Amino acid sequence: MSTPNTPETRPVSELVGTSTGESWLARYSNSLMGVFGTPQRVLVRGQGCHVWDADGKQYLDLLGGIAVNALGHAHPFVTSVISSQLATLGHVSNFFTSPTQVALAEKLLELAHAPAGSKVFFANSGTEANEAAFKLARRNSVRGDGTRRTKIVALEGAFHGRTMGALALTAKKAYREPFAPLPAGVVHIPFGDLDALRAEVDDTTQALFLEPIQGEAGVVPLPDGYLAEARRITRDAGALLIVDEVQTGVGRTGEWFAIGDSGVVPDAISLAKGLGGGFPIGALITFGPENSALLSAGQHGTTFGGNPVATAAALATLHAIESQGVLANVRAVGEHVRSALAKLPEVAEVRGRGLLIGFDLAGPGGDTAAVPDGANLAAAVVEAGLEAGFIVNAPGPRTIRLAPPLILTADQADTFIAALPQLVSRAAAALNSQQEDS
Ligand SMILES: *Cc1c(COP(=O)(O)O)cnc(C)c1O
Repeated sequence: MSTPNTPETRPVSELVGTSTGESWLARYSNSLMGVFGTPQRVLVRGQGCHVWDADGKQYLDLLGGIAVNALGHAHPFVTSVISSQLATLGHVSNFFTSPTQVALAEKLLELAHAPAGSKVFFANSGTEANEAAFKLARRNSVRGDGTRRTKIVALEGAFHGRTMGALALTAKKAYREPFAPLPAGVVHIPFGDLDALRAEVDDTTQALFLEPIQGEAGVVPLPDGYLAEARRITRDAGALLIVDEVQTGVGRTGEWFAIGDSGVVPDAISLAKGLGGGFPIGALITFGPENSALLSAGQHGTTFGGNPVATAAALATLHAIESQGVLANVRAVGEHVRSALAKLPEVAEVRGRGLLIGFDLAGPGGDTAAVPDGANLAAAVVEAGLEAGFIVNAPGPRTIRLAPPLILTADQADTFIAALPQLVSRAAAALNSQQEDS
């Protein structure tokens, strides 16, 4: 018999069995809700920047679980910290706290250079971090002069999550409209347009929500100077500036936070994706005592949020990023990838910072006319990439997004850059033959 804290090691395959990708996918479609469409592959194992599918094929993971696997897969330090925390104390509810929860909150406040009186709320995902932010914004309803605030401003192209509050902040109609009515009062203004911001943010505004770089929109950074001006406008109006760093935070851009070098102090930052190095956790950091007191005892909560294992995973992730020179790697490899992509005729435009990179495809050899009108070239490149052993993502019909592990090497990146011209040719050929068939 095993004693507590020395669990038997049993491979998960003993619980679920092994099978082919095709057979798992057939079972998937019979048992999983169809909201994600058909999964691209069935993945069974990961190591560093690589993953393997159920049929044994290897892939270079240039998406990192959508900016989540900051340290790649099966990072030994993160794995050992998670395992040892789980074997010690896994969950306690928020009637209790634990050392890892407190230490992680302190660490995030330090990394964010948050002023005295700043605080952290832990959630389990990005959308939940933004739900907390939404409720924070709602509490900014009455200020000293008695003005009633009811409006929240967000940007066109914004993605803030899929739960009802975060969905109200998200711009895309196809995501929103099936679920009307959404929480009221959210206005979307044109992206990057400071005049629209000046016109919309007033003394009825509770908050402005911004992503420093819109990831889901295809890696689109805010124009230079926009953030600082948004800070000035929101401060003058008494509105909160809430920065969604769910995708851009935790070293993704080569800084701990994408707004890091802007000098802007926001009222709140939401985090999730990379924070737990693959383990689910979200966080909302509120800046200063006034903002941190907007949500008072009993006004918000979560059962799992900030549990010992999730907070240990995040502490381990932050520690590894800090002690292993990861931010410098992100800056160097990111710069290398962007400049190499910009030289390819197949690439029309490159955007992003650090290892959050978006690029627009021209066509094979730069020939845009070689792609059928209205065809989804980016989706076809994703498929060609999978066949060649690369995982990338297509946030738009002409746009590829890379959000690889932050430990990606230049040599690993170069294998993809060398393959890209061929992937674009194969994708265009596949689209043309599909068109002939139909
Ligand atoms: C992914 C994402 C979210 C939602 O996070 P989930 O963990 O999927 O709920 C919110 N905001 C941004 C900017 C994101 O990229």
